[in-house]
Amino acid sequence: MPPALTQHPELRRRILAVLNAEPTGVLTATSALNRIYEDFSWTPQDHEPFPSAAGDEPRWRKRTTTQYSRMVREGLAHPSPDQRWRLTPAGRGEMTIEDESLGAERSRRARMWEELRAKGGPTEVRPQLVNELGFHSGQRCIYADKTRTVSAVSPAGIALTFLHTGTAYEDELTETGVVYHFPSTNAPGRDRSEIEAARAAYTFGMPVFVNTTAARGTKTVYRGYIEDFNDDLKALLVTFTNDEIPPDHAAENPFSITDETPNGTAQTLRATRPNQRRFAFAVLARYEERCAVCTMNIPGLVQAAHLVPKKNKGSDDPRNSLPLCANHHLALDRGYWAINPQTLAVHTSRKGPAAAQFGFTKQNLQHLRAQPHPEALERAWQTWQRHPLNS
Ligand SMILES: [Zn+2]
Repeated sequence: MPPALTQHPELRRRILAVLNAEPTGVLTATSALNRIYEDFSWTPQDHEPFPSAAGDEPRWRKRTTTQYSRMVREGLAHPSPDQRWRLTPAGRGEMTIEDESLGAERSRRARMWEELRAKGGPTEVRPQLVNELGFHSGQRCIYADKTRTVSAVSPAGIALTFLHTGTAYEDELTETGVVYHFPSTNAPGRDRSEIEAARAAYTFGMPVFVNTTAARGTKTVYRGYIEDFNDDLKALLVTFTNDEIPPDHAAENPFSITDETPNGTAQTLRATRPNQRRFAFAVLARYEERCAVCTMNIPGLVQAAHLVPKKNKGSDDPRNSLPLCANHHLALDRGYWAINPQTLAVHTSRKGPAAAQFGFTKQNLQHLRAQPHPEALERAWQTWQRHPLNS
């Protein structure tokens, strides 16, 4: 296997190291990137080009800039309208956290997981065992084991285990991942603290566990990483894996209109479900949880629709999608309407029902905060022109 891209936590360490080495704590973005490039080693994948509208740039550079923006959002660095990078006092404090402490926490989690498996886990184990091994304590939705994980950079700790009760969002847990909604209890302060602990686990790429109720009052524990975290959706995506390396963000990959499945066409239901979960999360995060052509915005009733459908090997890239209510999704899939890639206008088929019958409240996609990829719109439009309802 070729060496992977340098991981986000490592990119962050590099930015912190270079800016903290400056007595003034300020560098132009260009000098900061040059130093980060020269002071550290990079994998061949880091050097590959990242295609973008502004022209290709190497992936390491794109990813490092993205990481800086993330640090701005988390209050560790200042926004740089003047193209200067500088840390906030919180960012300066971050250097006091030694890499070893995060490494030690990673090792401790690895040992806990090994022990659970050695004692007959991780499926259908006694609830007491889960507590004895330190995975959980009390009834917290998100347990951070604060005595071990609170530090200057993670004042709320680093989330360790997510309690999945199976009551509110049962359908959202699969064998390969879970969309976990932020806790919203009658103790908002505690909820906020738990959400911050989850954010820290996401930021540091720390492995986490999901504690679920299994048959006959037993517990099943899953191990994974927080692959995505979204304040607007008030939800995060945990992907289950035994890998040592946290998964990267799909949105950073170059756009690909089709999906190359590794072993051809024969995909089991289980193999496709995790993609659906990840796909839906990414689509709602990109556009928002509201139908693109009407007013439906009830959480859970907005679906992720493919523009180039799965049956034509359409990819699970969110740019090959629109958020739609169930009716407009079905109507799209049946060829009743499509989007003109030039004007972004909604067109209905020549032989189908008239536009007025569909209850569209939007005549085009201009109002969306993000647009689908032009290639996906074009391909869907071309296919639609040949649809029986139009010929
Ligand atoms: Zn709709």
